[in-house]
Order: sequence, then C-alpha cells, then structure tokens
Amino acid sequence: MTEFRSFVDRVVRPNAEDFDRAGEIPAWVLEEVSAAGYWGAVLDGDMVRFGALHEEIGRGCSSLRSLLTVHSMVSYAVDRWGTAAAREKWLPQLASGRVLGGFCLTEAEAGSDCAALVATAVPHEGGYRINARKKWTTGGQIAGLLLVFARTERGLSAFVVPGDAPGVKRTPIGDVLGTRASMMADIELVDCEVGADSLVGAEGMGLAVITGALDIGRYSVACGSVGITQACLEAVTAHCTERVQGGSVLAEHQLVQKMITEMAVNVRAARLLCVEAGESKDRGDPETIIATCVAKYFASTTAMRAAGDAVQLHGAVGCADGHPVSRYFRDAKVMEIIEGSTQIQELLIARDALRGR
Ligand SMILES: Cc1cc2nc3c(=O)[nH]c(=O)nc-3n(C[C@H](O)[C@H](O)[C@H](O)COP(=O)(O)OP(=O)(O)OC[C@H]3O[C@@H](n4cnc5c(N)ncnc54)[C@H](O)[C@@H]3O)c2cc1C
Repeated sequence: MTEFRSFVDRVVRPNAEDFDRAGEIPAWVLEEVSAAGYWGAVLDGDMVRFGALHEEIGRGCSSLRSLLTVHSMVSYAVDRWGTAAAREKWLPQLASGRVLGGFCLTEAEAGSDCAALVATAVPHEGGYRINARKKWTTGGQIAGLLLVFARTERGLSAFVVPGDAPGVKRTPIGDVLGTRASMMADIELVDCEVGADSLVGAEGMGLAVITGALDIGRYSVACGSVGITQACLEAVTAHCTERVQGGSVLAEHQLVQKMITEMAVNVRAARLLCVEAGESKDRGDPETIIATCVAKYFASTTAMRAAGDAVQLHGAVGCADGHPVSRYFRDAKVMEIIEGSTQIQELLIARDALRGR
C-alpha cells in the first residue's frame, strides 16, 4: 500500500543500516510509528491491511518489524483475553505506542517445546507471585508491558506484568546474528507480585493464549519475510543492471536471469499466501491457523533463499558488513527460527495434511 511504502522509504530504509550498527531503533523512529498510528494496527481488525504494513516495514528493517510483531502479539492477547481492568488500563497505551509490549515465553528449558516451561505463578494476597527466567525477549530492553507465561496449579497461564514492577530484571542481549536492532533482553522475574486482574484468560488457558498470539506473530513474520524478499529483488535488479562483467551487465547472463526469475515468482507466491492467511483471519475462519503456518513456512524459507542469492549476485560487496543484502541475509535466517521454526511448521503442516486424508 502506497502509504506504508512512502513511510518506510522516508523513515526506515535510509536509516536501517545505522539502526543495525547501533543495535537499536532510535526513539524518534518509534515516535514516527506512533504518529502514523501503526502500533495499534492489530487492534483495528483489518488483517490484510496489517499484513501489508508488516510487509513494507519488513522491506525496510526487520528489527523494527520484529518490535511491531511482538507488540502486536501482546496487544492482541490483552484485547482478546485480558480482564476488563487490564483492557481499560493497557489497550489505549498499547494502541498509541506509549507503552510497548514484550512477549515472554521462551526459557532455557522451553524453546520449540513451550509446554516444558518451568516458570511459576503461585497465589499470593489475592493475586500471584511470579518467578521466571525468560530468554530472548524481543524489545525486552524497552518494553513497558510484559506478557509472561508461567505455570499455576491449573497449568500454563498468561499474565500481564508492568515492565517497572518490582522484581523485574533485564539483561540486554547484543551481538545477535540478525534483527540486531530489536533491543532484545533476557528477563528475570524474582518474586514479582501482580494482582488477580493481571491474568490473561483463565488459569490453565495459557496454551490457547500462546496459540492465538503466535498466530498473529507468524502472520507478521510471514509478511515481513515477503518484505525481505522484495528488498532482495529490488537490490538485485538494480545491481545486475549496472555491474559489468564478461563484457556485459550481469542481468544479460541467463544464469543470473534464472535467479532473478525465481525471486520474482516466489515473492508473488509468498505474498498471495499471506493475503490468503489475512483474508481467512478477517473472515474469522479457524483454517487461518494452518493457512498462516503455510504462509510463514513458504515466506521465511523463500526469504532465506532470496537473501542467499542476493549476496551471491553482489559478490564481495554483498559480503561487506553494512551492505543491505548482508543484513537481509542475517535477518532472513532469524525468520526461519522465530515464531515456530521451519521444522515446527513442517510438523504442523504435515499433521494437518494427514488429518485431511
Ligand atoms: C532474534 C530472536 C528473537 C526472539 N524473540 C523472542 C521473543 O520475543 N519472545 C520469546 O519468547 N522468544 C523469542 N525468541 C526465541 C524463539 O522463539 C526460539 O528461539 C524458538 O522458539 C526456538 O527455540 P530454541 O531456540 O530453544 O530452539 P530449539 O527448540 O532447541 O530447537 C533447535 C532446533 O531443533 C529443531 N527442533 C526442535 N524441536 C523439534 C522437533 N520436534 N522436530 C524437529 N525439529 C525440532 C528446531 O527447528 C531448531 O532447528 C527469539 C529468538 C530469536 C533468535
């Protein structure tokens, strides 16, 4: 959509290398996102539009798209399952971007297998006392509201925890392979006390909250991966029509044209899968869960292949730190791991296909 494209071309793309090098998205950019109203996009209920936004932001900077992803997952969960008090307090702040959300699921013991998590929430003075060691929280350095998953007597449960609650400790993570500017942190909760109205969904409903929030995250990452592939295609067509080797521009070599063809076809296919997933969300179709897995699987693996080819076609300059295609390559790898790795998508998609027989 033109509005999103011009926002990204004005605010994000010209500065994305600087964000990556500095390991952070500066406050003025976060404010520009607020001014544009994009933090609240998931709450507007138009998921095709949400997807188009996340594709464009992903075309510019996967770190910023990652911040939008986890923020949207938290906003969605609070909106759908939060108590009336939590919704009244947090939704306006999340929608405006005054408060950013952090999604605290992963632990050292629980990665792909989130059912293995060991964090606990025990009843305490009418509320809960939470102890947890959460890993790899995107935006964890700046998040003002944490969606924390912990085990109660009734099973996995979800809680909203203010980022400044006593007992919340953050350890920034630097030097990650990709999405380097997504301001990640490990987050520890030590005897952190929250009220009963912090529960998101009923006790024991954590897996449903995880499934719902991950569905939003997967959709966002799928669309962001389309953005990476589109950025690769744009970089490659520009480079290959300028760089002369063997007496002609690279674009005239048929082996190069084959790589460009694959990129051009796959980006369209991935975008269509994302639109299909978005439309199924807008219809409220339960099939959206698997449509989103398919879109995430195809779009993220496509982005990885396109980014590898983009580096290949740029030769040595594409390997230089600070060149956009080297960033696309590092960021694309992350897309195959977050929000359910490629192998987890394969398990879910195959299981669904076999059930349909
Ligand atoms: C940049 C980045 C940002 C992140 N942000 C967040 C965040 O905001 N919040 C959060 O909670 N977490 C976050 N994570 C963590 C992320 O969700 C996990 O890395 C992911 O779930 C995989 O878990 P793991 O790293 O422990 O890998 P593991 O689960 O140990 O998996 C390792 C490998 O084994 C494979 N594997 C695992 N199980 C199976 C199986 N059953 N069959 C076949 N293969 C399998 C996986 O596909 C993977 O290739 C982030 C991670 C990264 C890298």
